[in-house]
Amino acid sequence: MRILVVEDEKALANNLKKGLSEEGYSVDVAYDGEEGGFMAETEPYDLIILDIMLPKVDGFTILKNIRKQKIKTPVLMLTARDTVSDKIKGLDTGADDYITKPFDFDELLARVRALLRRKGEVKTAIITIGDLEINTAGHQVRRGGTDIPLSAREYALLEYLAYNKGKVVSRTNISEHIYEYDFDLDSNIIDVYINFLRNKVDKGFEKKLIHTVRGAGYILKSDQ
Ligand code: CA
Repeated sequence: MRILVVEDEKALANNLKKGLSEEGYSVDVAYDGEEGGFMAETEPYDLIILDIMLPKVDGFTILKNIRKQKIKTPVLMLTARDTVSDKIKGLDTGADDYITKPFDFDELLARVRALLRRKGEVKTAIITIGDLEINTAGHQVRRGGTDIPLSAREYALLEYLAYNKGKVVSRTNISEHIYEYDFDLDSNIIDVYINFLRNKVDKGFEKKLIHTVRGAGYILKSDQ
């Protein structure tokens, strides 16, 4: 899943990028409201973490603009003060949740996961496809009761397919939601990672879960 962080405090922004990347998310950072607004409007993010007080354009204005353009990406607002008025204004403008600075990173992660689930139709932290279980809170993957160790990149790809289970995702979808801004779309890296995943998730099982849809992309599903 791909996240945009709009935050002008460099240390906090970089810590968020580092922490979220370690969790397997792809993270782009904008340090001011103008750049952040542009990226939010032009790139297909799965989540936006948006500070309120920003140079050039403030967070409320960015939020108002993206909602006006019918961009429904979940927005988690960072409020500097624990003031009720900022929270109400954020939620009324179209934010999906907020967290007050300073915050506990684990709490932020839990809110991020909840918002990503809300975006899809997944309601719990564990996504099930047949006998495959993906625990999005702990990033554990099990099939038929056996743990499947995955690299961060493999996990991110599998999680993206799982959030969209039963739906075809194109290679463009994958590249836009799994990789950062400077990803080279011509690369065959997605096919390479799909093969890695197949070897770990489907190999040795009679029922395959990762399917290629010719000319369209990939789908994770348990029925044929
Ligand atoms: Ca700020």
